[in-house]
Amino acid sequence: MISTLRVLERIQRIDLEIRTIEDEEKRLCKTIEDLELELKGTREAIIAIEAETGALKAQIMEIDEKIRESQERSSKDEKRLNSVKNDRELTALTKEINGANKSKKQGEQDKTSLSAKLGEKEALFNARQDLLNGREEELRKLAGELEASRSGWKEAIDAKLKSKDELKSAVAPEILKKYELIRSRRSGVGLALVKDEICQGCFTHIPQQVYIMLKRGTDQELQSCPHCHRLLHVEDDKGQLEAV
Ligand SMILES: [Zn+2]
Repeated sequence: MISTLRVLERIQRIDLEIRTIEDEEKRLCKTIEDLELELKGTREAIIAIEAETGALKAQIMEIDEKIRESQERSSKDEKRLNSVKNDRELTALTKEINGANKSKKQGEQDKTSLSAKLGEKEALFNARQDLLNGREEELRKLAGELEASRSGWKEAIDAKLKSKDELKSAVAPEILKKYELIRSRRSGVGLALVKDEICQGCFTHIPQQVYIMLKRGTDQELQSCPHCHRLLHVEDDKGQLEAV
């Protein structure tokens, strides 16, 4: 059983190494996914800003037209001032000129306020566009990194699986099956180290009797943690895992 445990230790080590590689790939994929989602949001925000900018420009054009019309009306009326025939006409014409001037002034005020809003929107648009460009560049870099790493990762995993296959033959199939089953249910760890009577898989105290048997290393059966059911092993007296 001791030699079985030593082989299982090596298998466990390989499985953890494989998981580290897989986690690295998952992490990178997740980063890319998150970034893509963020870019989608930024693009949508840019489209919305463009729509708002377009609406403001249209409003400003309308106001320009209104200002132009008021200006035209007031110039025309001012020319007519020289040919008024009586006070009544003068009063009416002055009222009209005042109205046109007022309308022109209002238009200019509105235009100033809308132009300021437009300026803000354009600044926001540029800022978002710059952000988008930077993040797109980042995404391209990450995608390139993922593409470049994939073959290396696959090669490393294949080599580790091959080593694992070679080790498997040294373990009885039912023990291997048990190890794999626990591993699949317990976050990829099927074999746990026991230190000072504590299972390092679930950090629960194990019965002293089990610990003694593990330390003696003479037991005919593998010991399992009563709490997490992981197969158990201990460090040797030098505190090192034995090399097989
Ligand atoms: Zn445990």
